Amino acid sequence: MKVSECTKRPILSPCGLKDLDYQVDTYVGCEHHCYYCYALAQAETDWSKEIRMHNDIVGQLSEEIDKISPQTIYMGYHTDPYQPSEANYYQTRKVLSLLLQKGFSASILTKSDLIVRDIDILKEMKDAAVSVSVSFNDNQTRRLFEANTVDTEKRIEALCKLKEAGVRTGALLCPVIPYITNAIQLIDMLAPCTDVIWIYGLNIYDSSGQNWLNMQKILNCEYPDLIEQIEPAIFSKKHIYWTQLRDDLVTIKNDQTLNLNIHL
Ligand code: SF4
Repeated sequence: MKVSECTKRPILSPCGLKDLDYQVDTYVGCEHHCYYCYALAQAETDWSKEIRMHNDIVGQLSEEIDKISPQTIYMGYHTDPYQPSEANYYQTRKVLSLLLQKGFSASILTKSDLIVRDIDILKEMKDAAVSVSVSFNDNQTRRLFEANTVDTEKRIEALCKLKEAGVRTGALLCPVIPYITNAIQLIDMLAPCTDVIWIYGLNIYDSSGQNWLNMQKILNCEYPDLIEQIEPAIFSKKHIYWTQLRDDLVTIKNDQTLNLNIHL
């Protein structure tokens, strides 16, 4: 993987999530290279070959956050802060250390177990939160749709370690891919490690966009008998697949008193 320097740009940027005003992307691009990723539309490089990172992320971010009051900063919006290159470049760890030193906290979303490396910093932050996202029940299927992520079990193990360490944990069951993701089984796997699970379906609106073209190629090749069912469900949340899944999830939510946030 080539890791080059990006052009200078603001590192701290507005965040549209509830109760979070700012976010930081520690890399530009994401070598996890999930074929369904909505951010592919803005990709500056071919993520299978090259990602970019900020030069002097600590110096620049330090100046930017000095202009705002200490608060929780979101990480994981357009790029995964724990993609494989983080093991060598420590951009995310450097940012977390800076945030801790300045009295800020972090809310992180990742698909990687590398986050366990930084438990020491997260434990020190006031009310840090970590969520992992999962979509696939078996790793053979995962590899078809996510070129370079870690196994689902490893992500869930990482979540358990974070919870044991006293870090607030959540899980994002996202994206649910109709007829492929077994959401109920994944909820069972996640439940011991988190008190809250958010569930989102795969959202693709543009049938000429790169993420749908990628998905179509995989579905045609690997699921030729299912694609006629899967495709209409991906493009319409009124499809029977979603109404049935919503009903099943509401039943589970009521029976098990799990904190499920259903956004299907
Ligand atoms: S981990 Fe997230 S940001 Fe990275 S490619 Fe996958 S969906 Fe996109």
